[in-house]
Amino acid sequence: MLLEMQGVSVSYGKVSAITDVSIKVPEKGVVTIIGANGAGKSTTLRAISGLARARTGEIRFDGERIDRLPPDRIVARGVVHVPEGRRIFPEMTVEENLHTGAFLRRGAPDVATDLEKVYARFPRLLERRHQLAKTMSGGEQQMLAIGRALMAKPRLLLMDEPSMGLAPVIVEEIGRIVEEISAEGVPVVLVEQNAELALELADYAYVLETGRVSLEGPAPELHGNEHVRAAYLGV
Ligand code: ATP
Repeated sequence: MLLEMQGVSVSYGKVSAITDVSIKVPEKGVVTIIGANGAGKSTTLRAISGLARARTGEIRFDGERIDRLPPDRIVARGVVHVPEGRRIFPEMTVEENLHTGAFLRRGAPDVATDLEKVYARFPRLLERRHQLAKTMSGGEQQMLAIGRALMAKPRLLLMDEPSMGLAPVIVEEIGRIVEEISAEGVPVVLVEQNAELALELADYAYVLETGRVSLEGPAPELHGNEHVRAAYLGV
């Protein structure tokens, strides 16, 4: 397993956000975490990327503990987070935003090549590279957030609600991008409220309910599960 999260609990002050969560991510494919608002999906990703502290349990990446490392050291190992709400830098240009993704690799000879690759994948970003990020549409900003993450040379990509607030045609495009990234050998942990999309893209899925894993299994299996259908797929 590339990532193993074992028995992790996180609290914000007295509020328990996740309890005893265990998740595994293999070297390949898409793992999704679905669940209602406030179920603890974002917190699970934040624990992996070091933005939230695990109070119990451990997290291993490539066999080594990362749950005591600061976020920058976790990024340096290749665990890269595309946060909820994109969090791009609005007053910076598209290209400056992309360069921030490569901050820990600055001066590396292949940064320029990676920038070209991001532009090849997202022609819209190339067209708009000198434009301030805040002037971009929601979909374009999501592409920018993904492009920025790719500039960090991820070995594992954590994506928090990439489809949020986007029009159906853009959501479809995001889905294709997730599939492409995974097919190119970078596994993805996808957090989604859009369970239909998530289960379609994922190989394996976890359901979080009030901070605990209530169900897990191959994505097609969960897609057919009656409880999942009633609670998350509106069937
Ligand atoms: P959403 O889809 O709304 O982001 P989520 O499944 O990602 O939901 P989390 O954001 O991980 O859920 O939140 C889990 C729980 O922790 C919720 O009860 C939430 O209110 C609480 N929580 C999250 N962030 C904080 C914080 N910074 N301070 C206090 N409580 C928090």
